[in-house]
Amino acid sequence: MKLAKYSIGVGDRFAHQASAQLRAFEQAAAQGVTIVPVWNKSNREHTIIGSEPTSVRAAADAAVKAAGWKHPHHVDADHIGLKTVDRFMAASDFFTIDVADFIAKPAEPAAIQAFADRHPELAGEITIAGLAQPVRGSRAEVERVGGKFLLAVQEAGKVYRHIAAAKGAGNFIPEISMDETDSPQTPSELLIILTAIADEKIPIQTIAPKFTGRFNKGVDYVGDVAQFEREFNDDLCVIAHAIRTYGLPDNLKLSVHSGSDKFSLYGPIRRALQKHGAGVHLKTAGTTWLEEVIGLADAGGTGLALAKEIYAEALSHIDELCAPYATVIDIDRAKLPTTATVNGWSSEQFVRALRHNQQDAQFNPNVRQLLHVGFKVAAKMGRRYLDQLEACEASVARNVTTNLLERHVRPLFL
Ligand SMILES: [Zn+2]
Repeated sequence: MKLAKYSIGVGDRFAHQASAQLRAFEQAAAQGVTIVPVWNKSNREHTIIGSEPTSVRAAADAAVKAAGWKHPHHVDADHIGLKTVDRFMAASDFFTIDVADFIAKPAEPAAIQAFADRHPELAGEITIAGLAQPVRGSRAEVERVGGKFLLAVQEAGKVYRHIAAAKGAGNFIPEISMDETDSPQTPSELLIILTAIADEKIPIQTIAPKFTGRFNKGVDYVGDVAQFEREFNDDLCVIAHAIRTYGLPDNLKLSVHSGSDKFSLYGPIRRALQKHGAGVHLKTAGTTWLEEVIGLADAGGTGLALAKEIYAEALSHIDELCAPYATVIDIDRAKLPTTATVNGWSSEQFVRALRHNQQDAQFNPNVRQLLHVGFKVAAKMGRRYLDQLEACEASVARNVTTNLLERHVRPLFL
């Protein structure tokens, strides 16, 4: 099973938007660009919502069948480890193996020495096509990076072999993610990490490093865009080099996690993909849940009333909701409107505060981030929430499709 050159991860937290999401991919295909949809839901999301991975597979398959989608689609067990992977085994054919917790925990000294012994080429000057300058390696640097990442790669190997034993090698797409950690990985670290992954015989098709800058949930990138663009291009060169040198799968590509809404990066990413003829996996998730809330507000009446109720509940449980996402949100609480204020909003005021239109002076990224982590509120509402989603389906679906197509697919690929 081989992942296509272009793929986008989409999240469908309440299993109601797969068709609306697929419509964005159909329109891209109609305009000549095939992008493969990958429905992802992390263990964390399943736990917060109280859902099972089979529900993601069922919703995705139903949407694909109803639309007559002719290209592949996948279901991603997102951010799993040895302890959490088993319940995803049957429903998923894409596994994001998260080893961030093992980064910076040192491997056995003998394993680090053996790795450095096996790869004297990493300790010298490494010429990589496309890089302005050769990478200047040293034995000390190989040992330092090995010390930081080797245990994580060994753990990824254990998880990979566990999945392969259950599903059979070649019957699923493995990704390794290192994004949910403190410090970004430089292109030269990525080379050493990929070498170790090849040694561990994990045929990864995507890798999610932590890039420079902040990738907050549901809002634009915060950081040095020029530095991001340099490193993204360098990462592409390093990956091409690692494929040639270490025999990793020839479709290995970068996976950009928390990739939704990073509007200032889409131009640089698009340019880099064209320049290098490279593919990419862009992972989005919560942006679709936010479009559900926008769609409810947009519909007015009982939909708008429920959207206001979700805001009020989210605001009164802000600490609890933000805790699991502390490292990936930046909410200025002083700029959150009170419940009374929001209760007075019109449909248009609510939609304009939440919709990710940076040109709109009414747009409020603090409201957006709070609601992004507020899906637990809707999960607690249960059937009452789903009933409104269904009652406001036209409005919700229109917002879900437009967001994916116009704000994500188009600037990146069309
Ligand atoms: Zn991630």
